[in-house]
Amino acid sequence: ALALTRTPWALGSLRLSHRVVVGSMHTGLEVVDDGGAALAQFYRERVEGGADLVITGGLAVNSEARGGADYAVLGDPATDARVRRAVGEVHDAGGAIAAQLFHAGRYALTDGLVDASGVPEQAVAPSPVPWRGARGAVPRELSHDDILRTIADFGRAARAAEAAGFDAVEVMASEGYLINQFCSPITNLRHDEWGGSASRRRRFALAVVGAVRDAVSDGFPVSVRISGDDLMPGSSTPDDVDALVEALVAAGVDGISVGVGWHESRVPTVQAAVPHAVWAPLAERIAGVVRATSRPEVAVIASNRLTDLRDAEDVLARGAVDAVALARPFLADPAIVAKSTSGRFDLVTTCIGCNQACIDRSLFGRPVSCLVNPRAGRELEFPLVPSRSSRRVAVVGAGPAGLAAAVDLARRGNDVSVFEARESLGGQFELAAAIPGKEDYAAPVRSQRAELELLGASITTGRRVEAADLEGFDHVVVATGVEPREIDVPGIELPHVLSYERALREGVPAGTVAIIGSGGIGIDTAGYLVESGRESVRAEAFVSEHGLPRDGVLASSRPQRESILRPHPVRPGSDVTVVSRSGRFGSGIGPSSRWVAVGRLRSAGVHFVEKVGYRRIVPGALEVEDAEGAILRIPADVVIVCAGQEPVAGLAASLADRGIPFDLVGGALDARSVDAVRATAEGLEASRRV
Ligand code: SF4
Repeated sequence: ALALTRTPWALGSLRLSHRVVVGSMHTGLEVVDDGGAALAQFYRERVEGGADLVITGGLAVNSEARGGADYAVLGDPATDARVRRAVGEVHDAGGAIAAQLFHAGRYALTDGLVDASGVPEQAVAPSPVPWRGARGAVPRELSHDDILRTIADFGRAARAAEAAGFDAVEVMASEGYLINQFCSPITNLRHDEWGGSASRRRRFALAVVGAVRDAVSDGFPVSVRISGDDLMPGSSTPDDVDALVEALVAAGVDGISVGVGWHESRVPTVQAAVPHAVWAPLAERIAGVVRATSRPEVAVIASNRLTDLRDAEDVLARGAVDAVALARPFLADPAIVAKSTSGRFDLVTTCIGCNQACIDRSLFGRPVSCLVNPRAGRELEFPLVPSRSSRRVAVVGAGPAGLAAAVDLARRGNDVSVFEARESLGGQFELAAAIPGKEDYAAPVRSQRAELELLGASITTGRRVEAADLEGFDHVVVATGVEPREIDVPGIELPHVLSYERALREGVPAGTVAIIGSGGIGIDTAGYLVESGRESVRAEAFVSEHGLPRDGVLASSRPQRESILRPHPVRPGSDVTVVSRSGRFGSGIGPSSRWVAVGRLRSAGVHFVEKVGYRRIVPGALEVEDAEGAILRIPADVVIVCAGQEPVAGLAASLADRGIPFDLVGGALDARSVDAVRATAEGLEASRRV
């Protein structure tokens, strides 16, 4: 398996044993005041899991370069001590590590940020062009002297990285950060020597690379992460990008890693709905440019929406790029390389592209973790050591919380028995996997089942256990989940009214549909009705909608690996109405994914009705009433109720009556909102209380 992935390659003088790189991820662990212990353990586990080269999260080159309060400045003594520890642990585990040199530019979130003198920071940029994420704050335009100082800071940071023992540096010039801002005509409006034409806009990038090259020893590997396509109207053209690539190669870089899109782009790049590997052709095009230069040996690294090493192998097999960088997949499974290269793809916990515990948290400066791997970023807090004494533990309910608990208990040597009332595992994940674009939600269920079987846990499905069945267990984890909330509306008992669970499990009859409820489940259910269940169909639609090369569509060339969704009829969007009392469509979906999910429904022609009360359901219609008392009759051959959940937790009381120790986790504990991040973290935490 993975014959090409497992061949050696080189990033300049750095020899590497396989072609999968841990791409840069911001974790915030760089600022944890523990001497770098958590950061070091985070990277160490990835290297022990088979990673060879790790690129750090962005390390700011000066104070104003920080993306927010949870970014560290390279060269600051506390940061340097932490990263030295991380470097030491990576080397000790047999890996290599590159420091990413970072400047956020206008993307810096400066709320509460002060410089070393206590002066509040202001974001800086080539020109005073704000972005909406900064909530109206306008960045300060860098003066010529500021620019020279910033270039020097990149060089100083590179020297600090080499002194700290890093094996390479990667200059961050992609994803809309400062260097990318200088290259783009939409954020660089300057008329001095740093702007005005594409070649002058490139000067900053080239000056930075020159300063970095000069600052480090001869032969020390320098890579640059560039934007293959900004996906911003009016930004750099493909010719501009190609010219930048040629200039970077001439400036002596050893590698070019290819990113895509800005935080402001209105084209989704990393969400679950984005087809796997769809951005690889950007890197392949850039590889073609590199090969035509006098230094064709410069390594080109593809990245973004590569979640499975079989996809990575397919991209490598096309022969253009030297390596692939995966980031979030290493959050989801630190051992993805070791498991995949040994052929145990079934054991890999695949990143599901939800962004809920990683990107959505980093946007708000919150600690990064992973929905499907709640240990991510908390490795020291939850060490993988055997339990003090092996206990007999029953886990009742095999949804996200129960499976997270069961796997952690089994990994630490407990005797685990999982009981699930349904015939299949997964709970809310199983339902989510029925939504077009969320096929991967079946993946963690697959990997957790495989791991439980490997570890000898017993799994019983199709059996609803009572407290009496659980006598004899040392501990019980009650993870019995949720059931759809019923609402009190006249007509709710009519046969054409379905719960979302029934709709997703059994399918929806033909005709018009009104969806009661506009949270994440309501939006997902609408997506189920109007989008194809065939990944290949959606992938083709994505590339055609965004004018992308078709070579990036791997879905059509292989069967869908994970989906448990039966292909279902797709109805016109105009037949579907999502009805909301609040008017907040997609509430509960994370900020990086909500606009994509709601936008797709709007493009499909789905109707949205907001700020109404539910009056009654009659055959063929849902009647609602607006704030002025006007009655609106929404055509509905079928009404689907997506109005929240109720906990299913009756088992807890009977366990308490019998004096059987238990923990209540996930939706069974709190069903107010479907929050799988909370559920899986609670599963892990419950395991550690046993
Ligand atoms: Fe992937 Fe979601 Fe985990 Fe982020 S939180 S790494 S998107 S599975």
